[in-house]
Amino acid sequence: MRLTLLGTGDARQVPVYGCSCVACDRARVYPQRRRGPCCALVECGGQRWLIDSGLSDLTERFAPHSLSGILQTHYHADHAQGLLQLRWGQGLVIPVHGPADPEGLADLYKHPGILDFSQPFAAFERRQLGELIVTALPLTHSKPTFGYLLEEAGLEGQGRRIAYLTDTVGVPEETATFLAGKPLDVLALDCSNAPQPQAPRNHNDLTRALQVIEQLQPGEALLTHIGHSFDAWLLDHPDSLPAGVSLAFDGLSI
Ligand SMILES: [Zn+2]
Ligand SMILES: [Zn+2]
Ligand SMILES: [Zn+2]
Repeated sequence: MRLTLLGTGDARQVPVYGCSCVACDRARVYPQRRRGPCCALVECGGQRWLIDSGLSDLTERFAPHSLSGILQTHYHADHAQGLLQLRWGQGLVIPVHGPADPEGLADLYKHPGILDFSQPFAAFERRQLGELIVTALPLTHSKPTFGYLLEEAGLEGQGRRIAYLTDTVGVPEETATFLAGKPLDVLALDCSNAPQPQAPRNHNDLTRALQVIEQLQPGEALLTHIGHSFDAWLLDHPDSLPAGVSLAFDGLSI
């Protein structure tokens, strides 16, 4: 199983339009420091699923029939805006499996085009997609949101286990309990902000992200959904990440 983090930024992305903080200026000089909208690709056997669709160039990146479908964490624009163009494709159907969210994004449900939203996940529902097993994990966010547990089928418990948890602040107790019996090789986790004096409402800051990592004890943790001010803060606090915790970057493949 391979997970590629295609976009590791928050809704503002990096650089932020008009911002001249140290992180944004650096990203303008070094393209590898840019962060696109939060998005990933999981490949396992013959399966190739996009996790979220916030990238605006999906039709350029993925040839027709090259994706098995899309696992949508939620329908905030920075995670779903790429669907607004993708839907107008022709000659194929792309399943989009996500939470049941009556609002969705804009007029996507009214005019779904080639997208098939007919099979939303239920909480903790487990689906086998070829050699990939996906379980929907409820998260704490301002819209119905699922993280995904990704497992390899048919390896008698020896396969890799990856959890992709964004957007969220902390993790709900039932999700933490569910994951307690499933040791993770890799945890990709929302960490949008530098440590904040007060608990943020919809996204982890570094303090809450490290608490989640402490709780779930993954082999390795990757922080994603990173905001420009967190990138800038880290330049001043380079030793803030404990061993086994690192910052994701666009294009990182594991
Ligand atoms: Zn987001
Ligand atoms: Zn900035
Ligand atoms: Zn969101």
